[in-house]
Amino acid sequence: MENLTCGGRDLHIPCGPTFFPTVEEFEGSPLHYINKIRPIAEKYGICKIKPPKGWDPPFSVNMDETEKKFSTKEQLLHRIQEGISFGDGEEYCIRDYIQMAVEKTRLWIEDHVKDKETGEAMQTVTPEYLEQCYWDLVEISHEKYEVEYGNDVDSEMFGSGFPRSERGRGVSPSSTVSDTRSNKSANVADKASNKGVSNRNEIVILDSDEEDDDFETTNNTNAETKSNHSKQDQKDLPEPKFGTEEFYKESYWNLNNIPNAPDSILQHIKVGINGINVPWMYFGNLFSSFCWHNEDNYLYSINYHHWGAPKLWYGIPGTKKDAAGLEQVFKSYLSMKMRDVPDLLHHITTMFSPRLLQTADVPVCKLIQHPGEFVVTFPRAFHGGFSMGPNAGEAVNFATHDWIVHGADASERYRSFARPAVFSHDRLTFTMANHLQEQKSHHTCKLLTEELKRVIREEMSLRKKLFDAGVRDVSGFIDLPQNRLDQLDEESADYDDKRLCHSCKHICFFSCVACECSQSKVSCLRHSHYMCRCPTEKKYMMVWSTEKEMNDAYKEVESFAEKLKPVLQQDESDLASEEGTDEVAVRGEGSSESQKKDQIEQNSTASATKEDEKVTEFLIAPGAAQDAENYESYVVDLRKDSSLSILPRKGQRLLDFIRRNTLTLKRPNEEGSHMSSEKKSKLTSDDAQSQNEVIADGDISQDVETVNIDKQYSSKVPEEGIDRSNS
Ligand SMILES: [Zn+2]
Ligand SMILES: [Zn+2]
Repeated sequence: MENLTCGGRDLHIPCGPTFFPTVEEFEGSPLHYINKIRPIAEKYGICKIKPPKGWDPPFSVNMDETEKKFSTKEQLLHRIQEGISFGDGEEYCIRDYIQMAVEKTRLWIEDHVKDKETGEAMQTVTPEYLEQCYWDLVEISHEKYEVEYGNDVDSEMFGSGFPRSERGRGVSPSSTVSDTRSNKSANVADKASNKGVSNRNEIVILDSDEEDDDFETTNNTNAETKSNHSKQDQKDLPEPKFGTEEFYKESYWNLNNIPNAPDSILQHIKVGINGINVPWMYFGNLFSSFCWHNEDNYLYSINYHHWGAPKLWYGIPGTKKDAAGLEQVFKSYLSMKMRDVPDLLHHITTMFSPRLLQTADVPVCKLIQHPGEFVVTFPRAFHGGFSMGPNAGEAVNFATHDWIVHGADASERYRSFARPAVFSHDRLTFTMANHLQEQKSHHTCKLLTEELKRVIREEMSLRKKLFDAGVRDVSGFIDLPQNRLDQLDEESADYDDKRLCHSCKHICFFSCVACECSQSKVSCLRHSHYMCRCPTEKKYMMVWSTEKEMNDAYKEVESFAEKLKPVLQQDESDLASEEGTDEVAVRGEGSSESQKKDQIEQNSTASATKEDEKVTEFLIAPGAAQDAENYESYVVDLRKDSSLSILPRKGQRLLDFIRRNTLTLKRPNEEGSHMSSEKKSKLTSDDAQSQNEVIADGDISQDVETVNIDKQYSSKVPEEGIDRSNS
C-alpha cells in the first residue's frame, strides 16, 4: 500500500461525461432529462450537465443583510486519510466566510506557486496543478494544511442561491425538520443514531386519546394545506420561458423545486428534511473537501455551482460491485479504525486518492464543475472531491421511479449497520402504491410490484413464524392508529421515529414485537429474540397494516402494471432512453473538431469487442472532449480584481459577471491558444453582449476596477504555466 501514496504526481483520472441539454429539454423537468441520459451517465456514477447558453439565474443570497453565523468544520488535510472526525471551525456570516476564503486561497497560491523564470509569486494557477497539490498535501507533504468548510448550511436560514417559487413548488418551510434527522455531515451521523435511542422511550401502545394527538392534523398542517389550495389556480399557468425572471423562480432545475418536479418520488414527503428535499448551501475554500460517500437512502443528488472557483469531483459507478470495491479499498486502508467504527464511511470524514481505486480496478472518473453547471450523482454511486478556491454551491437529493430498487438495497444495508434511515422505505413504497396515477411506465411500475412482493412475503412469513413460536397477537385488544398512506408529513415522521427496532433501527412500519418487560422497547420481526431474555409468551405483536390491506395494495399495483403493459409498445419515453441517448450526449454547442473526435470514438468502439467497449467508453466519456475544449485555458485567478476575489451580490447575474471577467483576462492568451476561430468569434460576441447588458443594468459596471482589468493586468498574464518543481 505504501508505494501507492505518491501524492498527485502522474495521477491520470479520466473525465466523466458532460451533457448539453437544449433549451426545450431544459424547459422541462430535470428528472425527465436525467432519465434520458441515464443509460450512459449512470455507467460513470456522476455526470455534469451544462445548461444551454443564456442560463444565468440571479444569485439570491443576500450577503449584506444576514449577519447570522453558520458553523464550519475544520478539516486537516494532512490527516484527512485517517477517518478522524472534523473539529469545529470558527463561525462566520456568509460574507466573512467568503472574504476569509479569498484571502486564504490568495496567500497559499502566492506562497506555493512561483513563476519558473523570475521565481516571483503568481496569483493564477491551473486546475491540474491544484489537483496535484491537493494529493501531495493529503498523501506525502509534510506541510500542515487546515481549512474551514462551510458545509450543510441551512438554506432556509441563510437563503438559497436560487429565487423562491411563487407557485408553491418548494417544500413548505414551516414544516422543516432540523438537521438532526439527517446524517450527511460528519458529526450529525452520530446524532442520528443517538436520536433513535432517545426516542424509543416515548413509545409504545397508544390508547385512543393519544392516537388522536398523533394522527390528527395540527393547525400547522392545516395552514399548509390551505396555502397549497390557493396555489392550485397557479398550476394552470403556462410554464415560464427559458431565461425569464419567472423561469428562475419556477424551473424545476431550481433546486428548491426539484422535490416537487413531475414524476419525483419525494413529492410525497411533505415534511422538509434539510439536505434531502430542502437544499443545503456549501461554502468552499481552497482544498475544502467533501469526502467519499454516497447519498442517504441511496438517493440521487443534484449539485449546482453558484459562484467561485471550480469544484473537482471524483465518482465511481453505483453498481454493487463498484460500491463494494470502494468499500474494500476503504477497509484495507483504514482497517484498524474500522474495527472501532464499522460504519465509518457514513461519517464522511475520510478522503483517499482515486489512484487507490484505479489500482483496485474500481473505475473512477473526474469532473471539473464550474459556475453555472450541475453535477448529478446516481444512486449508490460513491463520490468525493474538493474546491479549488472560494465558492458557493447548493445541493439536494431527489428520486425517480427507478430508484425504488436502490432504496430497498439501502434499507437492507442500513439495517445491517443499525443505522437509522432518513425516512421509512416501507412507508414510501406503500405511499407510491397508493398513488398509482403517478405510475407512467410498465417498467417502473413492475419494479414497485416486485418490491411490494418482497416486503409482503417477508412480513407474512415472519408473522406466522412468531405466532407459531408463541408470540401473542393483540390486534383484537388494542387499537393502533392506521398507517396513513397519503403522504409523509411531520406527524407521521414523528410517529415513525417512535417505532425503531431496538436492534437494527428499522422503522417498524407494518408491525413490531414488544414485551411485557418494557414500556419502550420494540423490535422488528427479525430481531425480537435479541430484545430481552423473556420467554416468547411475554411478547406480543402490534400490527399497523393487516395482511388484507397489504395484499389488496399489492393486487392493485399488479393490475395497474398490467394495464401499463400495452402502452409500453408505443411509449417512447421508455424506449427512447435506449436509443436516443447517443444523440443527447454528443449534441451541444461544441466545435466541429470535438464532434469529429466523438465520431471517431464511436467508430472505434463499434468495432471493438464488448470488453474493450466498456474500457474505451470509460476512458473517453461523451461530452468530455468538448467540455475540456470549453475550458481550455482556464486558470483559477485570485488577483485582486478577478471575479473570484469580489463578493457575489444579491440579484447579480453571476455567471455573466464571471464569464465577462474570465474572458477579459484570457484575451492576451488568445493569439497563441488553440482556440478555433469559430469559437473565438463566439467568445467575442458573447463578451460584447454581456458588456452591454451590464451597462444597461447599471449595476456591476460600478465596480470600476473590474471593468479595467484588461488594461491593468493584461501584461502580467503568464504565458507558460507554473513552476511545478516547487512542491
Ligand atoms: Zn430489527
Ligand atoms: Zn422481555
